Amino acid sequence: MCAAFSPLMALNPKTDNVRQATEQGVQHLFFVCEIYKTQISRGRFFLHEHPKAATSWGLWMIKEVLAMEGVVTVDCDQCAFGLWCTNGVGEALVKKPTKWMTNAKAIAVRLDRKCLNEKSEEKHRHCDLLKLDKKGMRVIERYPVALANAVSKGQRVELAQKGELATLEAGSHVDEPDVWQTHPEYYESIYDANSGTKLDAG
Ligand SMILES: [Zn+2]
Repeated sequence: MCAAFSPLMALNPKTDNVRQATEQGVQHLFFVCEIYKTQISRGRFFLHEHPKAATSWGLWMIKEVLAMEGVVTVDCDQCAFGLWCTNGVGEALVKKPTKWMTNAKAIAVRLDRKCLNEKSEEKHRHCDLLKLDKKGMRVIERYPVALANAVSKGQRVELAQKGELATLEAGSHVDEPDVWQTHPEYYESIYDANSGTKLDAG
């Protein structure tokens, strides 16, 4: 749904298809924002994500949720969580600047990670998304494992703080297969988050 709010989409001619995609995107946002308000009013949590540059951040329904007590936004670069892809010039980390909106502060603080290039002398290369094919675009639509773990950990902390979850009630169970067994492709290539250098996955 976020494609309808891409800055690139704004450059497209306003054809019927573009208008329809935008309309559907706005309707979807209206729907999810109503759910966020219900979650907040019942003392529950929500987490919303769109690209940092998406035009949807300026829409009234998003601003209404943002104005509610306890709602915060946080920006992250997904290369800091190990998102990578392959294009014509090889493998590289993907910056994919992303903005999150949530009322779960324990999740927000864990998502607050920026590209290490901003502070490090050693720079890693970013994948040029404009050169990605459809398959490559699908790969970078998946959240990296470290990012999904950050959300899960934050959620567990929030629920434990509210007394709705004991420390041992969330997390991997011994009867569940490990992630490396269910998604071995995540472990085929591991990269140094700072330099982008491919590491020995073994
Ligand atoms: Zn980076």
